[in-house]
Amino acid sequence: MSSCVFCAIVDGTAPAVRVLEDDDVVAFLDIRPVARGHTLVVPRTHAARLEDLDPAAGAAMFRAGQRIARALARSELSTDGTNLVLNDGRAAFQTVFHAHLHVVPRWSGDRLRLGVGLLRRQSHDPESTAALIRDGLDRLTAEEHS
Ligand SMILES: [Zn+2]
Repeated sequence: MSSCVFCAIVDGTAPAVRVLEDDDVVAFLDIRPVARGHTLVVPRTHAARLEDLDPAAGAAMFRAGQRIARALARSELSTDGTNLVLNDGRAAFQTVFHAHLHVVPRWSGDRLRLGVGLLRRQSHDPESTAALIRDGLDRLTAEEHS
């Protein structure tokens, strides 16, 4: 049994509102989002730090993060921008030691400051938020196939 909460989410023994998954990564809503739609992308294979992360898993994580960012812009959340953030190590505010990429939705004039935002987090109806992101992913897929 793993004591890593992200490994537990990956193997389905801990709950999470998933928005995307493939052979390499699982993406789910952050339970303490700094903004509505804040998503985490985690590699399926445990790696505590960047130091331990297979570069191919890192590439897969970035690819999924980019896809979610593009989906958010196409969703009804209608984002204007994105912060893709990876906090590596306690000195960089890493709190879960299973490397992960934050996809933080941004809107023009949202005044979000990531430092303060990390302290003041609130939930934004995860199920409806995930539905909007999935809808954005569907729109992105349709666009790619048209
Ligand atoms: Zn893990």
